[in-house]
Amino acid sequence: MRQSLVVGNWKMNGSAASIQSLLEGIKQGIATVNKTAVGVCPPYVYLSQVSTSLAGTPVACGVQNVSEQDSGAYTGEIAVSMLKDFGCRYVIVGHSERRNIYGETDEVVAKKFTKTQAGGLIPILCVGELLEEREAGNTENVVQRQLDAVLNSSGVAALSNAVIAYEPVWAIGTGKTASPQQAQDVHAFIRQHIAKQDAAIAAKVQILYGGSMKGSNAAELIAMADVDGGLIGGAALNAEEFLTICRAGD
Ligand code: PEP
Repeated sequence: MRQSLVVGNWKMNGSAASIQSLLEGIKQGIATVNKTAVGVCPPYVYLSQVSTSLAGTPVACGVQNVSEQDSGAYTGEIAVSMLKDFGCRYVIVGHSERRNIYGETDEVVAKKFTKTQAGGLIPILCVGELLEEREAGNTENVVQRQLDAVLNSSGVAALSNAVIAYEPVWAIGTGKTASPQQAQDVHAFIRQHIAKQDAAIAAKVQILYGGSMKGSNAAELIAMADVDGGLIGGAALNAEEFLTICRAGD
Protein backbone atom coordinates (compact mmCIF):
# COMPACT_ATOMS: atom_id res chain seq x y z
CA MET A 1 0.00 0.00 0.00
CA ARG A 2 1.51 3.31 -1.07
CA GLN A 3 1.43 6.23 1.36
CA SER A 4 -0.34 9.30 -0.02
CA LEU A 5 1.73 12.42 -0.53
CA VAL A 6 0.47 15.97 -0.99
CA VAL A 7 2.96 18.69 -1.94
CA GLY A 8 2.21 22.39 -2.28
CA ASN A 9 3.94 24.27 -5.09
CA TRP A 10 3.75 27.90 -4.05
CA LYS A 11 5.27 29.06 -7.35
CA MET A 12 6.24 32.77 -7.41
CA ASN A 13 3.70 33.83 -4.78
CA GLY A 14 3.83 35.32 -1.32
CA SER A 15 5.82 37.65 0.90
CA ALA A 16 7.64 37.01 4.15
CA ALA A 17 4.47 38.01 6.01
CA SER A 18 1.96 36.04 3.94
CA ILE A 19 4.19 32.97 3.97
CA GLN A 20 4.51 33.19 7.74
CA SER A 21 0.76 33.22 8.15
CA LEU A 22 0.36 30.34 5.68
CA LEU A 23 2.94 28.36 7.67
CA GLU A 24 1.17 29.09 10.94
CA GLY A 25 -2.12 27.90 9.47
CA ILE A 26 -0.58 24.68 8.17
CA LYS A 27 1.20 23.99 11.45
CA GLN A 28 -1.97 24.62 13.45
CA GLY A 29 -3.96 22.14 11.38
CA ILE A 30 -1.40 19.51 10.51
CA ALA A 31 -2.44 17.29 13.43
CA THR A 32 -5.75 16.76 11.62
CA VAL A 33 -3.86 14.97 8.84
CA ASN A 34 -3.33 11.37 9.83
CA LYS A 35 -1.43 9.32 7.32
CA THR A 36 -0.67 11.51 4.33
CA ALA A 37 2.89 12.79 3.95
CA VAL A 38 2.94 16.55 3.35
CA GLY A 39 5.45 18.93 1.81
CA VAL A 40 5.62 22.55 0.66
CA CYS A 41 7.83 24.14 -1.99
CA PRO A 42 8.29 27.89 -1.42
CA PRO A 43 10.20 30.33 -3.62
CA TYR A 44 13.95 29.95 -2.92
CA VAL A 45 14.28 33.25 -1.07
CA TYR A 46 11.89 32.06 1.64
CA LEU A 47 13.54 28.66 2.07
CA SER A 48 15.39 29.59 5.23
CA GLN A 49 12.24 31.03 6.79
CA VAL A 50 10.17 28.00 5.79
CA SER A 51 12.65 25.33 6.84
CA THR A 52 13.20 27.03 10.21
CA SER A 53 9.49 27.35 10.80
CA LEU A 54 8.77 23.72 9.82
CA ALA A 55 11.62 22.18 11.80
CA GLY A 56 10.23 19.56 14.17
CA THR A 57 6.90 19.34 12.31
CA PRO A 58 5.85 16.52 9.97
CA VAL A 59 5.74 18.94 7.03
CA ALA A 60 8.69 18.54 4.67
CA CYS A 61 10.29 21.33 2.73
CA GLY A 62 11.08 21.27 -0.96
CA VAL A 63 11.87 23.59 -3.86
CA GLN A 64 10.46 24.19 -7.31
CA ASN A 65 13.60 23.84 -9.41
CA VAL A 66 17.34 23.20 -9.21
CA SER A 67 20.39 23.65 -11.38
CA GLU A 68 21.75 20.71 -13.35
CA GLN A 69 25.24 22.02 -12.49
CA ASP A 70 27.24 21.51 -9.29
CA SER A 71 28.62 25.02 -8.73
CA GLY A 72 30.37 27.84 -10.54
CA ALA A 73 29.61 30.57 -13.04
CA TYR A 74 25.88 29.98 -13.50
CA THR A 75 24.31 33.32 -12.64
CA GLY A 76 20.93 33.03 -10.99
CA GLU A 77 21.07 29.28 -10.47
CA ILE A 78 20.84 27.24 -7.24
CA ALA A 79 22.76 23.99 -6.69
CA VAL A 80 21.52 20.84 -4.95
CA SER A 81 24.30 21.14 -2.35
CA MET A 82 22.87 24.54 -1.31
CA LEU A 83 19.43 23.06 -0.81
CA LYS A 84 20.86 20.50 1.58
CA ASP A 85 21.89 23.36 3.89
CA PHE A 86 18.18 24.02 4.43
CA GLY A 87 17.03 20.49 5.14
CA CYS A 88 15.15 20.20 1.85
CA ARG A 89 13.60 16.85 1.03
CA TYR A 90 11.94 17.35 -2.36
CA VAL A 91 12.88 19.04 -5.62
CA ILE A 92 10.23 19.53 -8.31
CA VAL A 93 11.90 18.85 -11.66
CA GLY A 94 10.43 19.40 -15.10
CA HIS A 95 7.36 21.35 -14.03
CA SER A 96 5.47 22.31 -17.18
CA GLU A 97 6.10 26.00 -16.46
CA ARG A 98 9.84 25.27 -16.52
CA ARG A 99 9.49 23.23 -19.69
CA ASN A 100 7.14 25.56 -21.55
CA ILE A 101 8.11 29.06 -20.34
CA TYR A 102 11.84 28.53 -19.71
CA GLY A 103 12.50 25.99 -22.45
CA GLU A 104 13.73 23.10 -20.30
CA THR A 105 14.16 20.11 -22.57
CA ASP A 106 13.69 16.47 -21.62
CA GLU A 107 17.49 16.21 -21.51
CA VAL A 108 17.89 19.12 -19.07
CA VAL A 109 15.09 17.74 -16.90
CA ALA A 110 16.79 14.34 -16.87
CA LYS A 111 20.07 15.98 -15.75
CA LYS A 112 18.26 17.83 -12.97
CA PHE A 113 16.66 14.57 -11.88
CA THR A 114 20.05 12.84 -11.73
CA LYS A 115 21.69 15.73 -9.85
CA THR A 116 18.88 15.87 -7.32
CA GLN A 117 19.21 12.20 -6.50
CA ALA A 118 22.99 12.29 -6.48
CA GLY A 119 22.69 15.02 -3.86
CA GLY A 120 20.44 12.87 -1.70
CA LEU A 121 17.18 14.70 -2.35
CA ILE A 122 13.98 13.29 -3.81
CA PRO A 123 12.98 14.49 -7.27
CA ILE A 124 9.30 15.02 -8.03
CA LEU A 125 9.36 14.47 -11.79
CA CYS A 126 6.52 16.28 -13.57
CA VAL A 127 5.15 14.92 -16.81
CA GLY A 128 2.07 15.89 -18.77
CA GLU A 129 0.65 16.85 -22.11
CA LEU A 130 -0.52 20.11 -23.65
CA LEU A 131 -4.17 20.44 -24.68
CA GLU A 132 -3.31 20.10 -28.37
CA GLU A 133 -1.31 16.97 -27.64
CA ARG A 134 -4.28 15.45 -25.81
CA GLU A 135 -6.66 16.44 -28.59
CA ALA A 136 -4.34 14.86 -31.15
CA GLY A 137 -4.41 11.61 -29.17
CA ASN A 138 -0.77 11.96 -28.12
CA THR A 139 -1.05 12.01 -24.33
CA GLU A 140 0.63 8.63 -23.82
CA ASN A 141 3.37 9.35 -26.36
CA VAL A 142 4.26 12.63 -24.67
CA VAL A 143 4.23 11.21 -21.15
CA GLN A 144 6.26 8.20 -22.26
CA ARG A 145 8.84 10.42 -23.99
CA GLN A 146 9.21 12.56 -20.83
CA LEU A 147 9.53 9.47 -18.64
CA ASP A 148 11.94 7.72 -20.97
CA ALA A 149 14.33 10.66 -20.89
CA VAL A 150 14.78 9.96 -17.18
CA LEU A 151 14.62 6.17 -17.39
CA ASN A 152 17.28 6.15 -20.12
CA SER A 153 19.67 8.39 -18.23
CA SER A 154 19.12 7.34 -14.60
CA GLY A 155 17.78 3.79 -14.99
CA VAL A 156 14.57 2.37 -13.59
CA ALA A 157 16.12 1.77 -10.14
CA ALA A 158 16.27 5.55 -9.67
CA LEU A 159 12.48 5.57 -9.45
CA SER A 160 12.65 3.70 -6.16
CA ASN A 161 13.62 7.01 -4.61
CA ALA A 162 11.59 9.45 -6.63
CA VAL A 163 8.04 10.71 -7.04
CA ILE A 164 6.22 11.23 -10.33
CA ALA A 165 3.59 13.93 -10.83
CA TYR A 166 1.21 13.65 -13.76
CA GLU A 167 0.16 17.20 -14.54
CA PRO A 168 -1.90 17.70 -17.69
CA VAL A 169 -0.83 21.19 -18.76
CA TRP A 170 -4.39 22.12 -19.76
CA ALA A 171 -5.49 21.60 -16.16
CA ILE A 172 -2.78 23.65 -14.45
CA GLY A 173 -4.07 26.91 -13.04
CA THR A 174 -7.06 26.80 -15.38
CA GLY A 175 -9.72 25.56 -12.99
CA LYS A 176 -10.21 22.60 -15.40
CA THR A 177 -9.44 19.39 -13.58
CA ALA A 178 -8.88 16.06 -15.28
CA SER A 179 -11.77 13.75 -14.41
CA PRO A 180 -10.82 11.01 -11.95
CA GLN A 181 -10.97 8.50 -14.83
CA GLN A 182 -8.79 10.65 -17.11
CA ALA A 183 -6.21 10.93 -14.33
CA GLN A 184 -6.43 7.23 -13.52
CA ASP A 185 -5.93 6.23 -17.17
CA VAL A 186 -2.67 8.16 -17.46
CA HIS A 187 -1.44 7.13 -14.00
CA ALA A 188 -2.07 3.48 -14.87
CA PHE A 189 -0.25 3.97 -18.17
CA ILE A 190 2.76 5.45 -16.34
CA ARG A 191 2.82 2.57 -13.86
CA GLN A 192 2.51 -0.03 -16.63
CA HIS A 193 5.29 1.62 -18.60
CA ILE A 194 7.62 1.46 -15.59
CA ALA A 195 6.51 -2.12 -14.87
CA LYS A 196 7.86 -3.21 -18.24
CA GLN A 197 11.29 -2.60 -16.72
CA ASP A 198 10.65 -3.36 -13.04
CA ALA A 199 7.29 -4.43 -11.66
CA ALA A 200 8.26 -4.00 -8.00
CA ILE A 201 9.42 -0.42 -8.50
CA ALA A 202 6.33 0.36 -10.55
CA ALA A 203 4.10 -0.93 -7.77
CA LYS A 204 5.90 1.20 -5.20
CA VAL A 205 6.43 4.56 -6.89
CA GLN A 206 4.09 7.36 -5.80
CA ILE A 207 2.32 9.04 -8.73
CA LEU A 208 0.71 12.37 -7.82
CA TYR A 209 -1.92 14.18 -9.81
CA GLY A 210 -1.58 17.92 -10.39
CA GLY A 211 -3.91 20.32 -12.15
CA SER A 212 -6.51 22.39 -10.33
CA MET A 213 -6.82 19.90 -7.49
CA LYS A 214 -8.71 21.48 -4.61
CA GLY A 215 -10.51 20.60 -1.42
CA SER A 216 -13.73 19.81 -3.27
CA ASN A 217 -12.27 17.37 -5.82
CA ALA A 218 -9.22 15.88 -4.07
CA ALA A 219 -11.00 12.92 -2.48
CA GLU A 220 -12.45 11.58 -5.75
CA LEU A 221 -9.10 11.93 -7.52
CA ILE A 222 -7.03 10.35 -4.76
CA ALA A 223 -9.60 7.53 -4.49
CA MET A 224 -8.47 6.27 -7.91
CA ALA A 225 -6.28 3.18 -7.73
CA ASP A 226 -3.11 4.73 -9.17
CA VAL A 227 -3.45 8.28 -7.84
CA ASP A 228 -1.28 8.56 -4.74
CA GLY A 229 -1.80 12.20 -3.82
CA GLY A 230 -1.41 15.61 -5.35
CA LEU A 231 0.94 18.34 -6.44
CA ILE A 232 -1.03 21.45 -5.64
CA GLY A 233 -0.58 24.97 -7.01
CA GLY A 234 -3.22 27.61 -6.32
CA ALA A 235 -5.07 25.69 -3.61
CA ALA A 236 -1.84 25.29 -1.63
CA LEU A 237 -1.80 29.02 -0.90
CA ASN A 238 -4.68 28.70 1.54
CA ALA A 239 -3.92 26.67 4.66
CA GLU A 240 -7.44 25.32 5.20
CA GLU A 241 -7.87 24.34 1.56
CA PHE A 242 -4.44 22.70 1.49
CA LEU A 243 -5.14 20.76 4.69
CA THR A 244 -8.47 19.58 3.29
CA ILE A 245 -6.60 18.12 0.31
CA CYS A 246 -4.03 16.54 2.65
CA ARG A 247 -6.82 14.90 4.68
CA ALA A 248 -8.32 13.54 1.45
CA GLY A 249 -5.16 11.48 1.16
CA ASP A 250 -5.79 9.81 4.54
C1 PEP B 1 1.00 22.99 -10.49
O1 PEP B 1 1.41 23.99 -11.06
O2 PEP B 1 1.77 22.09 -10.15
C2 PEP B 1 -0.44 22.91 -10.25
C3 PEP B 1 -0.96 21.74 -10.10
O3 PEP B 1 -1.13 24.09 -10.23
P1 PEP B 1 -2.71 24.29 -9.93
O4 PEP B 1 -3.05 23.39 -8.76
O5 PEP B 1 -2.85 25.72 -9.61
O6 PEP B 1 -3.43 23.86 -11.16
